[in-house]
Amino acid sequence: MRARAVINLDNLIYNLEVISDKIPKEKIMAVIKANAYGHGYEEIFKECFKFGIRFFGVATIEEAQVIRKINKEAKILILSAVEPNMYYELSKNNIDITITSFEEIEYIINNNIEGNYHIAYDTGMGRLGFNEFEIEEVIKKLKPVGIFSHLTSADNDEYYTRYQYEKFINISKKYDIKYKHLLNSFGSEKYYDFFESFDLYRLGILMYGGELTNIYKPVMSFEARISYIKTLVEDSYIGYSNTYKAKKGDIIATVSAGYADGIFRSLSNKSKVYLRGKYYNIIGNICMDQFMILADNDVKLGDFVEIFGENIKVEEQANLANTISYELLCAVSPRVNRVYVKEEI
Ligand SMILES: *Cc1c(COP(=O)(O)O)cnc(C)c1O
Repeated sequence: MRARAVINLDNLIYNLEVISDKIPKEKIMAVIKANAYGHGYEEIFKECFKFGIRFFGVATIEEAQVIRKINKEAKILILSAVEPNMYYELSKNNIDITITSFEEIEYIINNNIEGNYHIAYDTGMGRLGFNEFEIEEVIKKLKPVGIFSHLTSADNDEYYTRYQYEKFINISKKYDIKYKHLLNSFGSEKYYDFFESFDLYRLGILMYGGELTNIYKPVMSFEARISYIKTLVEDSYIGYSNTYKAKKGDIIATVSAGYADGIFRSLSNKSKVYLRGKYYNIIGNICMDQFMILADNDVKLGDFVEIFGENIKVEEQANLANTISYELLCAVSPRVNRVYVKEEI
C-alpha cells in the first residue's frame, strides 16, 4: 500500500458522544455528503446508525440511493436542489427532498407527487431557496415536512448569525412544521444553549473532528509510505522547478503520495510530515504521485508518515494552504485506501 486514510471509528464515536451530551441523538442529522467528507459514507453511516442516529444529510441522488439500499429505516434528506423528474422515484424510496423554487412546486402539483419536502429558506447565504416574502405562498401550495436555512458564518460572525436566526424564527414560528432546522456544526457548538431548540441539528465537520479540534478528535489520519531514501553526494535541487536546494550529506526521503492523492501542491516547502515523535519538512514542489522530505537516520524505508491526523491538525494544514479543513478532507482521492480501525470491546 502506498497511501492510506486510516479512519478511526473510535474517535468518531467519541465525537458523537461529546455532541450527544448536548443534543439528543434523535435530533442529530449526520451530514455524510461528499463521501462523508472523504471518510467513506457507507461505513460512517453504519457507525452513526449503530450509535442511534436516524437522520442523514447527503448532497446527491446517488448518495441517497446507496444509503437507502443499505438501510430502509433511516431518514435521508438531500440538502441540494435536484432535478424534479427524480422526485417521484425519490419519494417512492422515502428520501426527503429540498424545495428551492416555485418551478419545483409547480412540478409537484402538476404531477401530484406525495413526498417529504423541506423548504429551503434563504436567510442570507444567497445560495438556494425562497426569501422571507415568498414562504407564505410556498406553504399555501405545498405542505412541507421541514423548513430549513443555512448559516454562513457561525464560526466567526455572531452578529450575522443572530440576524439569520431572527429571520428564520420570525417566519418559521408561524407554521406548524415537523422539522425546523438551522444550525450546522459551528452553530450547534457555539449557539446550542443560546438559541431556542430546533428539531434537527445538521452536523458535519464536527463529527469528523476536522475543526474545533480542542474538543473533537480527528477521525482521519492521512498517511503515505516512504518509498526511497538517499544521502546526497553533492548539493542538489529537489523536485520540479528547482524550488529547494539540498546540501551534500542531507538525507532525502521520497514519500509515495502527491497532489493526485489530495495533498495540496500549495503546501510545497511549507508543510511537514510526522513520524515517531518527529516532524520532517516537505522540500521541493509536491509532485503528482510523490513528494520529498528532509529526513534523518530514524526514517526507514516502508515507514508510513502522517500528512495530517492526530499529530498534524488538518485545520492547521488548511490554514497553510489558504483554505478550510473541509476541502483537504474531501480532496483525499479515491486511489487512497480507506482503512477502518476500531477497538474491539
Ligand atoms: C454541508 C452542510 C451542513 C454541514 O455543515 P458542517 O459545517 O460540516 O456542520 C449542514 N447543512 C447544510 C445545508 C449543508 O450543506
